[in-house]
Amino acid sequence: AAVASMPDAVPAPNRTQNRELPAEPAARTGFRNTPDTDPSLAANRAWGDRIRARIAGSTLGAATAAAHVISEEAVLDETVRRGVAAGAAWRGLTADERAAILHRAGDILESRRAQLLEVMASECGKVLEQGDPEVSEAVDFAHYYAERGRDLVRVDGARPKPVGMTVVTPPWNFPVAIPAGSTLAALAAGSPVIIKPARQARRSGAVMIEALWEAGVPRDVLQYVQLDGRDLGRKLIGDPAVERVILTGGYETAELFRSFRPELPLLAETSGKNAIIVTPSADLDLAAKDVASSAFGHAGQKCSAASLVVLVGSVATSDRFRRQLVDAVRAYPVGLPDAASSRIGPLIAPAEGKLLRALTTLDAGESWLLEPERLDEHGALWRPGIREGVAPGSEFHLTEYFGPVLGIMTAETLEDAIALVNAIEYGLTSGLHALDADEIATWLDTVEAGNLYVNRGTTGAIVQRQPFGGWKKAAVGTGAKAGGPNYLYALTDWTDAPVSA
Ligand code: GLU
Repeated sequence: AAVASMPDAVPAPNRTQNRELPAEPAARTGFRNTPDTDPSLAANRAWGDRIRARIAGSTLGAATAAAHVISEEAVLDETVRRGVAAGAAWRGLTADERAAILHRAGDILESRRAQLLEVMASECGKVLEQGDPEVSEAVDFAHYYAERGRDLVRVDGARPKPVGMTVVTPPWNFPVAIPAGSTLAALAAGSPVIIKPARQARRSGAVMIEALWEAGVPRDVLQYVQLDGRDLGRKLIGDPAVERVILTGGYETAELFRSFRPELPLLAETSGKNAIIVTPSADLDLAAKDVASSAFGHAGQKCSAASLVVLVGSVATSDRFRRQLVDAVRAYPVGLPDAASSRIGPLIAPAEGKLLRALTTLDAGESWLLEPERLDEHGALWRPGIREGVAPGSEFHLTEYFGPVLGIMTAETLEDAIALVNAIEYGLTSGLHALDADEIATWLDTVEAGNLYVNRGTTGAIVQRQPFGGWKKAAVGTGAKAGGPNYLYALTDWTDAPVSA
């Protein structure tokens, strides 16, 4: 309530359509992507300055009052039962009625753009340039799933049954878009939700959830909980009344959930170790820019981030691309999100363990093309690093680090480069920079990843245009892709639905 009643002190920015339009605008789904804030307009830059001025003295701390803090098993039990009971009325609404509420949620999220940017910056260190497309994505999820929920009935001509109680466990790295997307999908499918935002992102989650409540989603249909006791997570996942769990997080977390309940119906988007291949036919200027932004946007803390670049043939044997890449990376100032110049913000916590090793220690045969530099005493703010000479089969080749460090590998041919990429056990995103049509076709046919990007960076999937989800160990469960046409099927039960003629 603290947040819902707080006036949005920074009014909405000027909107211009600066995103690509969907391939089939409006006609099929009635859905259009929401534009990001266009920083080329002076008024929007001033809007950003006003948000940044509020970051340091943020008053959003009270937002977690919205959460139901649960420390006892009996209370958790009651929470699940309350959600299941409330779900009956939610599933009793028509698809059109639910869609109207979700569209309103999208509009409210849009009207809170400034507040969402502020809380993500204050709580998770997200710079505005990274947070703005994230808000657009959350808004897109609301409108897109609202329409997909109607399509299940209207276009597909059948009456799928909502599966029922859906538990959502999102990560901190996209503290608004991912919890919003998972929750809105389950609600659009007609199910009640219990959401447990990541510990590091509770306030951001609260601002998002309050927008959905305000739009008309009943509080018992969407319950926000914090679990404050041992084994409560195991208890929740293990509860037979829980019909689906939507997890975005590490592969190990998915395994842990499975160990709680082997037959658990899980939709999990898990870890990534993603690479961009650059061949001699590529536009190297574009490739350098896309590799730099994919590797170091949000300090590399994205499942979709590029952690490797594989240089092929003459791109590998000459210095040109390396020089361009270093120039592109040096052009990103590192700093806290309240400074307008900051393009790479802080890590969510001081680097430790394998990430700290990757930022400070080289393996045999490696050297620094660009040595990382720690900028604060805690070790959360780093100038990014680029490791040269990463060997096939080495730790850096195969491990996810989730931080501002990129490795360079080399290959004689495109086929050799693809073999290096496919040797990785995760397959979330993958990139190719090449202008040769045969190379593009070969790569599309053989590379093993859920999201394939040609001549584009590997991050920032756009709802409907680039349904997002992994392959191999990057997905556990159904593998349904978020923001795509099949996601709601995984959240509905079709076993005894009538098949239309
Ligand atoms: N959907 C995000 C993107 O395309 C990545 C989500 C994640 O890191 O889990 O960049």
